[in-house]
Amino acid sequence: MARVLVTGSTGFIASHTILRLLEAGHEVRGTARSAERAAALNATLSRYAGRDIAIDIVAADLTGDDGWAEAMDGIDYLQHLASPLPANLPKDHDTLIRPAREGALRALRAAKAAGVRRAVMTSSMAAIAYGWGDRRPAVLDESHWSNPDNLADNTAYTRSKTLAERAAWEYVEGEGAGLELACINPVVVLGPAMSGDVSASLQVVVQPMQGKLPAYPKLTFGVVDVRDVADAHVAAMTDPEAPGRRFLLGESVLTFSEIGDVLREAYPARKLPKGELPNWLVRALSLLNPTLKQIVPELGKTRAFDNSRARALLGRDLVPAREAILESARTLVDLGEL
Ligand code: NAP
Repeated sequence: MARVLVTGSTGFIASHTILRLLEAGHEVRGTARSAERAAALNATLSRYAGRDIAIDIVAADLTGDDGWAEAMDGIDYLQHLASPLPANLPKDHDTLIRPAREGALRALRAAKAAGVRRAVMTSSMAAIAYGWGDRRPAVLDESHWSNPDNLADNTAYTRSKTLAERAAWEYVEGEGAGLELACINPVVVLGPAMSGDVSASLQVVVQPMQGKLPAYPKLTFGVVDVRDVADAHVAAMTDPEAPGRRFLLGESVLTFSEIGDVLREAYPARKLPKGELPNWLVRALSLLNPTLKQIVPELGKTRAFDNSRARALLGRDLVPAREAILESARTLVDLGEL
């Protein structure tokens, strides 16, 4: 079995990936911005898995060189998941682009120097589906790339993921030749939360459950279960066909209102919002609300995708979006977060 380094080990997808790696018999080391988070992470993993887990954590920040060589020492495979994913997007795009892009290169350079065989990097649908303007393909797949220069159809986050993934491929095709690379490109990741400190993506469930929305903005979300995303990371690490490939991970596309309906049906005692808000109203409200302002460019847009490569990698169908949505809600309710 192999020794695997998981960067951003405290994160939502990383925690599930760590458990899948351990279940497959691999030895796991993690990085976190602070090694002091090791005890809390191991407690969370142990509680969720129902057995004692104690992985080593090395402190390494995407924005600095300290710790990367130590973290990579003796490692066979790199799982690079760390990248900023804030709930509120910064005005200055470099706040996200710099850690995402430079951090990916830092991790890959350290991996190459340590003789790591293969890196699996968590990219995103953000690196596939944005910046197309009116020319967006009706069905997106791994052959498509976002255009980060079209600022009208991008956010700081989508640009950070596109530029980081592009830099990673350029690195392994040049200076880093010999280091194998596969990228995982998920849509919005839902599914079981292990703690209340979860990814910004779970806001898609948290917001309706908190009942703070009057009704749903006309948004659509591709949804995938975190357990499928974790399995894909593990499969892409050893599958002989994976190097040089991207894997778009998404089960299906739902409107925000459809996600709300799934939750309303499961939690009838809660007063969950119903119906859709007209676009003009969201635009008007966004003048006073910075969170709404972020979503205005997304109103009415749908990004359909082909997930056949992901299904082939996993050798099965993906977990239904409905189950991913309900598992997010159930676990957050059980944790007392909702
Ligand atoms: P998450 O729970 O917020 O995890 C992000 C991780 O990145 C955290 O461990 C965070 O560490 C780490 N990180 C952020 N800035 C860092 C820095 N400067 N130095 C070191 N580590 C840093 O989010 P997630 O959903 O699991 O995301 C994991 C990966 O999946 C990211 O690459 C994200 O872009 C990608 N992704 C997520 C989704 C989704 O819907 N969730 C979809 C597509 C792709 P701290 O704990 O110290 O903050």
